[in-house]
Amino acid sequence: MTEKEVLDIFTRHNALLTGHFRLSSGLHSEKYLQCALILQHPDVAAKLSKALSAKFSKDEIGVVIGPALGGITLAYEVARAIGVRGLFTERQDGKMVLRRGFSIEKGEEVLVVEDVVTTGGSTKEAIGVVNALGGKVIGVGSIIDRSSEKIDFGVPFKSLAVLKVQTFEEKDCPLCKKNIPVTKPGSRR
Ligand SMILES: [Zn+2]
Repeated sequence: MTEKEVLDIFTRHNALLTGHFRLSSGLHSEKYLQCALILQHPDVAAKLSKALSAKFSKDEIGVVIGPALGGITLAYEVARAIGVRGLFTERQDGKMVLRRGFSIEKGEEVLVVEDVVTTGGSTKEAIGVVNALGGKVIGVGSIIDRSSEKIDFGVPFKSLAVLKVQTFEEKDCPLCKKNIPVTKPGSRR
């Protein structure tokens, strides 16, 4: 699956909008991405997950794990594609943890996935959870890499598409200067 095919899927499902948006961070952007609109379609989620798992076909993987909420569906589908367990980490009192009786064996090879990597913050927290339990993270996978700078996870990071999304402070926003009405999209992931 090429990067263009991936981005076309997003455009076709209105999951990648172009306009003038105020993100929950307060920054303005001309692009808005909502991965849940893609993953709500099991057939599309399966196709993307299969393509993502193929990028790690040479790796030994015992379990796939994703940080909630964005990573749950993807981890599950990637796990299905590989034929292993699919887990998720979640926040408890602000701290990323593994709950619900989920476990990772000592030395178990773990693939960490996230639908969209922006700052990589929750992905790094999920990696920390795996490390603390003695698991071995072999890589990080995402459908979209929309990070503005290269992120070092300490393991190979592979994504299906890279998306450069410029963001602006309101005072510097070129779209505001053109008097284009700004919209606030639904909950940002
Ligand atoms: Zn603006």
